Amino acid sequence: MFGLGVVKGFGVTLKRFADTYIDDVKKIPSRYAGQRGVIDQGPEDTGIFTIQYPEEKRTLPERFRYIPMLLRDDETGEDRCTACGICAKVCPPQCIWIVRDKDENGRPITRPTEFYIDASICMSCGLCAEFCPFDAIKMNHEYELAAFDRYPKLVYDKEELTVLVSYYAKLYPTQYTEEEKARADKAEKKSK
Ligand code: SF4
Ligand code: SF4
Repeated sequence: MFGLGVVKGFGVTLKRFADTYIDDVKKIPSRYAGQRGVIDQGPEDTGIFTIQYPEEKRTLPERFRYIPMLLRDDETGEDRCTACGICAKVCPPQCIWIVRDKDENGRPITRPTEFYIDASICMSCGLCAEFCPFDAIKMNHEYELAAFDRYPKLVYDKEELTVLVSYYAKLYPTQYTEEEKARADKAEKKSK
């Protein structure tokens, strides 16, 4: 019937409008109450509202990924990366450069002396993290990377890419727990 679609459309808009307030009541104190900061807007939330970015930000889901990060052990201060080069090989746009360290006799050793990622080329596919056999590279949630100069600002070196394992554990609690369990099981099997 002529006009039925328009009426339905208004109905949807009206429902979303009402949901904005109903959702706020459900979340008392309201998502706007108190200090500004991270706003918890999950997929189950309804209603229409604006996040006042950058003062407010959405809670990011665990699976969110942006630019990779390298992991360093909190206690030992050792980097997990062994400079095996697998991540650089699988990276589709080839934006990872690694230089393996050498001992005093010039023999290669299993750690990188340099590690670069060109964030202006990285497409956040996460393949480097998927393929790393040492859980040494993971995807960071940090997305505020805007810079006036693409080079060298967006080419991150080893120190800029490195974070502590505890930081990773906080971003990816489920994944971290699973990985640690798998690592512990593997270590136990090896010791038998
Ligand atoms: S991050 Fe992982 S895959 Fe890449 S070089 Fe280091 S150990 Fe190898
Ligand atoms: S996320 Fe993808 S594009 Fe970015 S460095 Fe890793 S493999 Fe390369």
